[in-house]
Amino acid sequence: TSPSDQIRAGIRDVPDFPKPGIVFKDIAPILSDPELLKKSINLLTATAGDVNIDKVVGIDARGFIFAAPVALALNAGFVPIRKQGKLPWQTHSMAYSLEYGENVVEIHKDAILPGENVLLVDDLLATGGTAAAAIKLIDQLEANLIAASFLIELNFLNGRDLLGDTRVEAVVDF
Ligand code: 5GP
Repeated sequence: TSPSDQIRAGIRDVPDFPKPGIVFKDIAPILSDPELLKKSINLLTATAGDVNIDKVVGIDARGFIFAAPVALALNAGFVPIRKQGKLPWQTHSMAYSLEYGENVVEIHKDAILPGENVLLVDDLLATGGTAAAAIKLIDQLEANLIAASFLIELNFLNGRDLLGDTRVEAVVDF
């Protein structure tokens, strides 16, 4: 079986989390397995292709787990996009709507220089709202987004339709 099939097999479905009717994809069994964790990092790193990446941007909070080791593997820096109120320095903010209400994510204004090559990393692409907001922040910094890479993509939610002409990569999809 291929590394991505092994990763797929390691994802645990948790029904009715965090709300009734939602089947949550739990990545904990992948994180706790040294081989699956390494394969996940390797496959996410490979999505950069031949492009020299300056910054890997991770999304709060599970995105951080993958983005930092991918940054190390690519000889790039790591930049967090965080939920509102967590970053201490000057920030750009972006709101996006949820089923009920809205969320705000932020990035440090000096985290990425104009023209730098960026790889965006998160654990999972669902409706795409989170990643779309992250991409707007990266665009505000005039960075060059090479790809948005996810360990898991939920195809049936069509999240990539929200991401414009960004190249979207996923290690496994459902
Ligand atoms: P979206 O904004 O695309 O609807 O949701 C994606 C965000 O929510 C990601 O940051 C991801 O961590 C989180 N998320 C939503 N559903 C799941 C899920 O089933 N499993 C995991 N691990 N994360 C999820």
